[in-house]
Amino acid sequence: MTDYERQRQRMVERQILKRGVRSHRVLAAMEKIPRHRFVPEDSYGHAYEDSPLSIGKGQTISQPYMVALMTECAAPEPDDRVLEVGTGSGYQTAILAELAREVYSLERIPELAERAEGLLSRLGYENVSIRVGDGSEGWREKAPFDAIIVTAGAPELPDPLVEQLAEGGRLVIPIGSAHHQTLCTVKKERNKIQREEGTGCVFVPLIGTFGWEEKPSGRHS
Ligand code: SAH
Repeated sequence: MTDYERQRQRMVERQILKRGVRSHRVLAAMEKIPRHRFVPEDSYGHAYEDSPLSIGKGQTISQPYMVALMTECAAPEPDDRVLEVGTGSGYQTAILAELAREVYSLERIPELAERAEGLLSRLGYENVSIRVGDGSEGWREKAPFDAIIVTAGAPELPDPLVEQLAEGGRLVIPIGSAHHQTLCTVKKERNKIQREEGTGCVFVPLIGTFGWEEKPSGRHS
């Protein structure tokens, strides 16, 4: 067993299992995916710590527990088609690719989308499609989705994402202010929407038509 594998086992036991994530499939995926490959090389030594990390362009890879919790709430099944909004490092994308049949992921920053696409293909994932675009509008041509995970904070529930959810589908999304959100799970059953509110969380903003407006200063960073 390598040192990274040992660190991952410890991460799953102490940060994820202990906080109540119980899905065996989710735990197995978290134990398998080399999270360090998704962070800048000078952060490899911090990759299995209990926190988000910077991935450049002002964005972050989410805390491991948050990735596990969101995945458990989205409950991807082996035959499912899943949409992720906010590819970022591609780490959550890889977790979903382990658990679902097809994963579609949208990222608004081209450099991040390219880097994640390259890494996921080097790691051998063939069931992932990444596109540059405003994920707050969803991905209409590929809808409906059995599960949708939004990894950036939204001011309110984006209508297109609810529309693109399949019957029986689950949408997991942080909703709130720019500085603090509540993790919401939305379920569509017999065309009715049921919304459950979970833990508090802090995500970078979802910027787009159905998200936040880009701040002028953000354009130059
Ligand atoms: N799932 C990522 C988390 C990245 S942080 C990971 O595991 O690394 C959230 C990402 O959402 C950022 O990369 C940001 O650029 C992206 N983002 C923000 N608004 C977006 C939008 N409207 N559409 C697509 N991506 C968006």
